[in-house]
Amino acid sequence: MLYNLNYIYPTFAIIIKHRLATLRVKAIRLEHLYALLLHSAEKIQPATLHPHWRHKMYKITNLPFAAQKLTFAPMLILDGKIASRAVIDTLKTEVEQIKLTGKRTPHLAAILIGNNGASETYVASKVKHCDEIGFGSTLIRLADNISEAELIATITELNNNDAIDGILVQLPLPKHISEQNIIMAINPAKDVDGFHPVSVGKLVQGLPTFIPATPYGIMLMLEHFNITTKGKHAVVIGRSNIVGRPMSILLSSNQPYGNCTVTVCHSHTPNLNEICLQGDIIVAALGRAEFVKANMVKEGAVVIDVGITRVEDPTAKKGYRIKGDVAYNEVAPRTSAITPVPGGVGLMTIAGLMKNTLQAYKAIGK
Ligand code: NAP
Repeated sequence: MLYNLNYIYPTFAIIIKHRLATLRVKAIRLEHLYALLLHSAEKIQPATLHPHWRHKMYKITNLPFAAQKLTFAPMLILDGKIASRAVIDTLKTEVEQIKLTGKRTPHLAAILIGNNGASETYVASKVKHCDEIGFGSTLIRLADNISEAELIATITELNNNDAIDGILVQLPLPKHISEQNIIMAINPAKDVDGFHPVSVGKLVQGLPTFIPATPYGIMLMLEHFNITTKGKHAVVIGRSNIVGRPMSILLSSNQPYGNCTVTVCHSHTPNLNEICLQGDIIVAALGRAEFVKANMVKEGAVVIDVGITRVEDPTAKKGYRIKGDVAYNEVAPRTSAITPVPGGVGLMTIAGLMKNTLQAYKAIGK
């Protein structure tokens, strides 16, 4: 019998891809089952569990099912891969439409200073996403001994270049350069990071503007998973200009996925645990690995973990692991929805940046 290899090979590839995807989903389910077990093993009432889970639980733990009361509510994983994919795919379609009209495509310029490993990774991912969507991108690498004046001159060139729609300067900057002066040097019309005071002022007043990419990404995630925010008490831990402060403004704004009553916490907040316990929604953006513990989280809360901290771990391939600000394994079972780290807010940040770039293009491009 003759086989058409052109047909068979792609078929095998599809089967294998599908198999891998199934295994991944199983791994994620197992991970959350473990989280549930760790937290409430002694409280589980197996009769209330779906038979599928009862069976799995028995297989994994051999737990004697003489338990008392089940406090577990089904928990939704706010998967950044899924939500960001939806945003990226929409942007791709828009760019295809732009190309069909023969117009130039949106273009993002990124400035990377020095050799910070994390910054290299973030910028590479931004460039990769531009490629995928169909945006043009320019990466400008500068030595970390560049002067502030030289950096401002580079930004000014980009400001004056009509082919560039968005400009971002990857933070942090070397100590001898003022972050504020650099942010101020960017033309607000190209400020796709949303850090310029003009952008921030508009955000505060509820006017259309560039929303800083991470809070923007979180809002897109809330929208994607249709998380109810109206009338909820949101606790934001952290008040940085990049995450905490704009997040608190967005959540308190009179807009879809806003209308929360917001409490902003910082390093001088006394009784942080008690305040967190009142939160229907907690946004943890403080940069302290696994800071938010189960005893700080109300049953059924929505938890958004912004933190990214590299924690040394000699058993890890890279010598470190990425940890969020939330102790995921113990907190997840108490929540109604939670973002994983990695695979949560980080991916949404890029989606937010990409949306801002298209917005800048629409306003000044063509
Ligand atoms: P940041 O500028 O260092 O701000 C941290 C904030 O947390 C500050 O307001 C600080 O309070 C507060 N804080 C620190 N320790 C605290 C404590 N023990 N209790 C209460 N509040 C405390 O950090 P950031 O730039 O906002 O970033 C926060 C985290 O998010 C970091 O891990 C960062 O890597 C991560 N991040 C992730 C993304 C992403 O895409 N996923 C994007 C940006 C940042 P004070 O103001 O009193 O000092």
